[in-house]
Amino acid sequence: MAIQGTRVAIGLGSNLGESQQILRGALAQLRAMEDVDVELVSSFYGTKPIGPPQPDYVNACAVVRTTCSPSDFLAGLQGIEQDFDRVRLERWGPRTLDLDILLWGDEVINLPDLQVPHPRMAERGFVLVPLAEIVPDWRHPVLGEAIADLLKIVDCSGVEQL
Ligand code: ATP
Ligand code: MG
Ligand code: MG
Repeated sequence: MAIQGTRVAIGLGSNLGESQQILRGALAQLRAMEDVDVELVSSFYGTKPIGPPQPDYVNACAVVRTTCSPSDFLAGLQGIEQDFDRVRLERWGPRTLDLDILLWGDEVINLPDLQVPHPRMAERGFVLVPLAEIVPDWRHPVLGEAIADLLKIVDCSGVEQL
């Protein structure tokens, strides 16, 4: 049965624990979500963290279709984060899994707990490199530029395909 709905881009990141395994597990949970079809998944990338000293990240992007509302979908992503958090709180530090909504069709969403397009995506090589691998032509609805063109003007040093 085909889920149509809206095309949504998601950024995945982990820098503690078995990061590649955690991202694979998160993708499996996304696939298991009701009302969600995972259409595309990028390669995994090793990326250098921005900000205070911390372990390198593994980042990836996925494109799904969903009939969920944006708020329900965000709650679903946060539920997946929690599942990995539970393991993380016992054994690891504070950053096993981050799941961010990057793009929601060509919509602009400004809710108290959800801003889409993700406000910082266009300045992040670790987002644009994997996203451009799977959806280079998707146009950022605020900036009016395709992901592949945004990628040309961002610093991508420290983003290496695994
Ligand atoms: P950044 O947003 O800079 O990537 P982060 O992902 O580390 O930071 P989190 O701690 O994962 O931040 O999330 C903080 C809050 O951001 C969440 O509780 C959520 O309500 C809010 N939020 C706003 N917009 C989004 C979005 N597009 N995707 C996911 N969370 C969002
Ligand atoms: Mg984030
Ligand atoms: Mg987040």
